[in-house]
Parts: sequence; structure tokens; C-alpha cells
Amino acid sequence: MTFLKSADLERFLGEASKTRTVYVPVDVEPKKSAYRRWTPGTAVSKGLKTARSAKDFFFPQTENLVGFRIENGKIRILDPREEQEDFAVFGVRACDARSFGILDKVFLAEPVDTYYQNRRAHGLILTMTCRRPAETCFCTAFGIDPASPGGDVVFTETADGWYVEAVTDAGREFLAPMADLFEDRDESGREAAKEETRAIMEKLPLAGLSTDAFGGGRTKALFDRPEWASLSEACIGCGTCTFVCPTCQCYDIRDYDTGHDVRRFRCWDSCMYSDFTKMAGGNPRLTQKERFRQRFMHKLVYFPENNGGEFGCVGCGRCLASCPIHMNIVKVMKTLSEGQDEQ
Ligand code: SF4
Ligand code: SF4
Repeated sequence: MTFLKSADLERFLGEASKTRTVYVPVDVEPKKSAYRRWTPGTAVSKGLKTARSAKDFFFPQTENLVGFRIENGKIRILDPREEQEDFAVFGVRACDARSFGILDKVFLAEPVDTYYQNRRAHGLILTMTCRRPAETCFCTAFGIDPASPGGDVVFTETADGWYVEAVTDAGREFLAPMADLFEDRDESGREAAKEETRAIMEKLPLAGLSTDAFGGGRTKALFDRPEWASLSEACIGCGTCTFVCPTCQCYDIRDYDTGHDVRRFRCWDSCMYSDFTKMAGGNPRLTQKERFRQRFMHKLVYFPENNGGEFGCVGCGRCLASCPIHMNIVKVMKTLSEGQDEQ
């Protein structure tokens, strides 16, 4: 099998960056990594996950959609889009790789979001197995295997490098000119590395977290549960959980008058914010309890209801690590799972 030695990673990224922009996870603070553009000498983070997910590459936090300018009494439409450059995102974990499938269901459904579609068409996903999953990880609850992350090219990590396998045509095309960077290795090392990852997952605190109480058709039983009041009591509506989440996809669109023209921007929004559903006729979610409930009902009930049973969470654990009041989807799932039979 194709194998890339750790010592050859720099060469690999150098070759890759000849045909496209390459983004890699980089340590930006102690225990905090973020994606950065790779240039020669850039040290790739050895951490498990970036603080923010790889969603940003396809659905950026802020985006200028269109502009308008009045010229000679007529409105001229300004399209800021240029031909999107090819790029690759290296080191994407299985949870984030799955999140793209969830985002596709939203943005590529009719009417197709052509901004997102364009980036998906130009972006190559280079995934990596999780050699040391964290205590906050629970991707397996959603049927994700951290040892088989998908994407276009899979890097299975071992002690001295990675087994490299292209799993899509785009991935095969990408790797084809780099054949001399790799050596041939017996496949047994890859299988052993995968089993090691799976064995660690089985021993983590959230192994065995059940989704049985959730899914389509549970709206009435779960919506009316009294526990939402206590679960949401301390939520300060900061929206952090939605901004770090690889599957959250809500946004707001606003126009700004620059003095010369009008620019229309799309920016991430959060269902946790008090004005999220504010409309001319009022706001149907007046309390934080209602907003909090919406976030979790969407991921655990409404999304699977409308998408063939697929949940809107990938168990990345980011919301577990970042909520200032230590509330998260796992606590919600555990609390609502208790006593579900009596409802
Ligand atoms: S659940 Fe936590 S991270 Fe999310 S809005 Fe509430 S306080 Fe903020
Ligand atoms: S809800 Fe939390 S664990 Fe689930 S995908 Fe979003 S950030 Fe990750």
C-alpha cells in the first residue's frame, strides 16, 4: 500500500501546493489549532481537532454575496464572485468529513446555493484517522468510524507516517503525479492502526451514548418535555456552540450602504440569539428555553425527520469543550433519554 513517511510530509505538501492552495491545521495557541495556508516551513499541528471546524472553507463566516450601484438612473448588479481557486484541506477528521454531507443536504438541495456549490467543486478533502481521540468525542454514536474518515484521500496515521489512499476520482487525480513521494508498505500496519483507534474509542467516557430516544417522529414527545426549562436555565445565549459546530448552517443577510453602492453580506447567525426569529409580526421564540430547545430539536429530531434519519450532529465534541456554562448536546441527550419510555 502507498505510505508517506513523516519525514516526507513537507515534500508532499510542497508538491500539493503546486497545483492548489493547501490549508493545514497549525498550533496558534497552546492546545488550540486553526487552519492556515501552508507555505514551506509551516509546522502542521499534531493536535486532534481545530478549534473551529473545516466548515469555514465552504460556508465562510462572512461573505459578500452581491452588490448594487445606481448608474445613470439604472441599478447595476455587482457580482463579487471570481473563478474559485482549487484548494485542499489537509487533516480533516472523520466528524468534520461527515459534516460536509449534512451541509450538502442543506445547501445543494433546490434551490442550490451556488456559492457553496462552487467551493465544494473546487475543494479537495484530505482526511486523517484519529490516532488519539479525545474524551469529548462521540462520533460513533452517529455511526461515524474515526478510522475510516472518507473525503477524497484518506491518511491513516501510524507511528512513523501515514498510509495514503485515494477514495474518489478527484483524489486519485490529485495523487497521480506524486507517486515517487510514497513507498510501498504491507497493509497489515494500516489495519492495526485502525483497530487501535477503534479500541480507544470503545474505552472513552462517551462510548455507548445512545441516539435511540431521538430521530424523526419524536417531535411531540420531546418538544413538550419539562426538562428543557432546567437544561436551558443557565444558557447565556452566547452562540459559541453554534459557531464552533461543523453542522450549524443558519445565516442572516444584510445590506450595507458604503456611500458608493450597497453590498449584501451573508453572515453566520445563531438560533441561540434573541433576535434570530424576530420578524415584522413579532418573535415566535421569546425565551431562551425556546431558543435552546430549537437548537437541539433541530439536530436530534427535525433534521433526521427530513433527511432519511440522518442526525444533524457528528459528535465532534466542540460544543462540549467550548460552552462557558458547560452545557452541551450530550447532557441534553442523556437527560431526555431518561424517562423517555414513560412519555
Ligand atoms: S449552550 Fe452554552 S455555548 Fe450555547 S449559547 Fe448557551 S451558553 Fe452559549
Ligand atoms: S452539536 Fe456539538 S458535538 Fe454535535 S456537531 Fe455540533 S459542535 Fe459537534
